[in-house]
Amino acid sequence: MKNKAPKNLDKIISLLKEETKNFSVPIATKIGAEDRSPFKVLISCILSLRTKDTTTGPATERLFRLAKTPEAMLKLSNKKIEKAIFPVGFYPTKARYIRASCRKLIDDFGGKVPKTMEELKTLSGIGNKCAGLTLIYGYGKVDCIPVDAHVQVIANRLGWVKTNNPDKTMYALMETIPKGHWFDLNNLLVAHGQNICLTNSPFCSRCAIRRFCPRISVKRSR
Ligand code: SF4
Repeated sequence: MKNKAPKNLDKIISLLKEETKNFSVPIATKIGAEDRSPFKVLISCILSLRTKDTTTGPATERLFRLAKTPEAMLKLSNKKIEKAIFPVGFYPTKARYIRASCRKLIDDFGGKVPKTMEELKTLSGIGNKCAGLTLIYGYGKVDCIPVDAHVQVIANRLGWVKTNNPDKTMYALMETIPKGHWFDLNNLLVAHGQNICLTNSPFCSRCAIRRFCPRISVKRSR
């Protein structure tokens, strides 16, 4: 059975929608909305680990100018992929993940991106977050709440969860947030985290949800 939803959740979601409507859209959402390609969302997720969206977006576009399908991607050498995706963090490792994932997509899934968390997580470099983002923003299929560093930090600051890693946070949020909010939650909290609730020193003075936030563990703010 689900736990009780966080207090004022509907109000907080509605304020975040208003606050973030003029912010840049997080990269997975943007690619999902513009390209409707689960494969491109998947690859952008691999590229986005420990990398800012402003670097991930152009790197994804450079790579997709060279190859748009798993088959075409496999025809590129590791070096060519590395060159296209540089300067994303850990680019040599990510180039290897991309090739290994494409190989598996072809061998095990007929060249298509699978539609379940379990199958997606068998691909190289894909954990709960990337699998969830691919399902939601690639297929519009809402099976989980993807948690990145922003969601992790904000959910704890708001007191919605008391967790120390993204996987625990994902399951804890799924216990308390009603499913109707799952589609938007990652998108809203990532945009809020990139622009207002910064990890090191949040802009609490200009935050739309300040009156509902207990600011748990916030030591420094602006
Ligand atoms: S009040 Fe501060 S800590 Fe709370 S959500 Fe807003 S920016 Fe983040």
